[in-house]
Amino acid sequence: MHEISLCQNMRHILDEAAQENDLTVISKVHLLVGDLTCVETSALEFAFSVCMKESIAQEAELHIIPVEGKALCNQCGNSFASKHFFTPCPRCESNEIQIISGEELTIQSVEAH
Ligand SMILES: [Zn+2]
Repeated sequence: MHEISLCQNMRHILDEAAQENDLTVISKVHLLVGDLTCVETSALEFAFSVCMKESIAQEAELHIIPVEGKALCNQCGNSFASKHFFTPCPRCESNEIQIISGEELTIQSVEAH
């Protein structure tokens, strides 16, 4: 499951951050999740609680911040909301688009003490 490996990776990042910053408890994790990542919020929350067991973040609350998918058309310069990769430009129907946001899967910040 995609979400599990994601959270295992997150645990590793949090562990390292805690060591570097002398943190003892992480209470909240703010995570940016792009619309285009295909991550399911409920699956992610479940995976988080499983993967963080007996870690510094075992009591941490996961706060998911959704990031809207956005694409830019290389033909006409139109930027538009996109729920999927390879959505053609709604203005000129070109397929020459680039994703400008929505691929995020990053820890924005943590609350710790
Ligand atoms: Zn266009």
